[in-house]
Amino acid sequence: MKEYDAIVVGAGPAGGSAAYWLGEAGRRVLVLEKERLPRYKPCGGGVPKAVFDRFPFDFSPVIEREISRVRFRFRDGREVVADLPGKPVAMVMRDRFDYHILQHARAEVRDGSPVVALRQDGDGVEVETASGETFRGRYLIGADGANSRVARWAGLRGGKRMGAALEVEVPADDALLEEYRETVLFLLGTPPLGYLWVFPKAEHLSVGIGTFLGKNAAMREVLRREMARLGIDVEGYPEHGHPLPIYLRREALHRGRVLLAGDAGGLVDPLLGEGIRHAIDSGRMAAEAVLQEDPAGYTVRVQRTLGANLRWGLRWAKVFYHHPWGSFELGVRNPRFLDLFLRLFAGRTTYRRMALRAPLDVLLGLPRRRPAVPP
Ligand SMILES: Cc1cc2nc3c(=O)[nH]c(=O)nc-3n(C[C@H](O)[C@H](O)[C@H](O)COP(=O)(O)OP(=O)(O)OC[C@H]3O[C@@H](n4cnc5c(N)ncnc54)[C@H](O)[C@@H]3O)c2cc1C
Repeated sequence: MKEYDAIVVGAGPAGGSAAYWLGEAGRRVLVLEKERLPRYKPCGGGVPKAVFDRFPFDFSPVIEREISRVRFRFRDGREVVADLPGKPVAMVMRDRFDYHILQHARAEVRDGSPVVALRQDGDGVEVETASGETFRGRYLIGADGANSRVARWAGLRGGKRMGAALEVEVPADDALLEEYRETVLFLLGTPPLGYLWVFPKAEHLSVGIGTFLGKNAAMREVLRREMARLGIDVEGYPEHGHPLPIYLRREALHRGRVLLAGDAGGLVDPLLGEGIRHAIDSGRMAAEAVLQEDPAGYTVRVQRTLGANLRWGLRWAKVFYHHPWGSFELGVRNPRFLDLFLRLFAGRTTYRRMALRAPLDVLLGLPRRRPAVPP
C-alpha cells in the first residue's frame, strides 16, 4: 500500500489549494478525484480577483471576462445599474479554473478514482478507490464537495441543511454577448429566499437561480420565465442542479486525522452563494493544520475567521431575503449602501465591517436614493 503525508479527496478549489500548499512545503500528497480532469462543475464562476493573490502564479489564462458593471433588477422590472471601478471581479469556467490550480500543485493526482471507503486509526487514514486500490495517509483532507462522503464517513456535518442552485450555460448571439460583456445581472425579489443571475463568459452566458435559506420547488419554471423576460432563451439547453451547503452554524470540521474543506465543510456564503473563495482559504488552512499536526486547531481557526464572517453573512441574508422590497428600496437604491455592497462583492470588505458601517450609511444615503427605472 502506498503511503503519503496527506491524501486529498476532491480536485475542486478546496482540494487544489490544500494540495498546492502541502506540495510547496515538500509533503508527499495524493489527490484522488472521482471524475476525469478537467471536469465540469455547475457554477456561476464569479470570483473576486483578490482571491488570485492567494497564489504566486498567474490566473489570466483562465479568466473569461472581467466585470465593470452590475445591474440589480427587482421583480417588477425596475433596475439600478452601478459601475465597478477597476474590474475587481473575474468570470471563470470551473473546469479550467480548478485544473489550473491543480496543475501548479506538486502532488500526485489520480483522476477517475472515486473514494469508496475510508478507515482511520490512531496513526493515519486508509482509503479505498472504486478500482479496489488502497492508499494510506497520515492525514486526509475531505474536499469532496457538497455531498461529501468523507464527512459522512467521519461522522461530521450531521443534520446539515442545503440550499440549491440550478444553472444553464446558454449560447448567446453577438448582441446579447455585447450587452453582458462586462456586466453581471442580479435579479432580486423573485425566487423565495434567493436570486437569479446572468454572468458573462467568453462565448456564452451562465444563467441560474439559487435559493439559499430553503428549497424552492418552482426553480425551473421561475428560471425559464425570468430569463425569457430578459430575452434569454434557456429552452433546450442542459440544466445543472446542485446543492449549496450554506454556512448555518459553528460545527466541527475535523475528526481525528480527517479535515473537511470547502463545500464539504459547508462553507458557502448565505447571502451571495459564493463558495470558491472559502474553498481556497479553507483548503490552505487545512494544509497548514496538517503541517502543524493540529487538526483541532483547524476547526477553531476556520470558525474564528471564515465562520465568523459567514455568521454575519447569515444575518444579512435573513434580512435581505425575508424583506426583499425593503432591501431594494433602502439598500440597493441607496448609493452609500450600494457602495458597501459592491465592496463586498469585490472581496474588499467583510460582512462584519459592512454591518458596522451600514446603519450610518443607510441613513446618510437615504436622501440621495437613486432612481430605479426599467432598462
Ligand atoms: C449553480 C451554482 C453556482 C455557483 N456560483 C458560484 C459563483 O459564482 N462564485 C462562487 O464563489 N461560488 C459559486 N458557487 C459555489 C461553488 O461552486 C462551490 O462553493 C465550490 O465549487 C466549492 O469548491 P470545493 O472544492 O469545496 O468543491 P467542488 O468544487 O464541488 O469539488 C469537489 C470535488 O470532489 C470530487 N468528489 C466528490 N466525491 C468524491 C469521491 N468520493 N472521491 C473522489 N472525488 C470526489 C468531485 O468530483 C469534485 O471534483 C456556485 C454553486 C452552484 C451549485
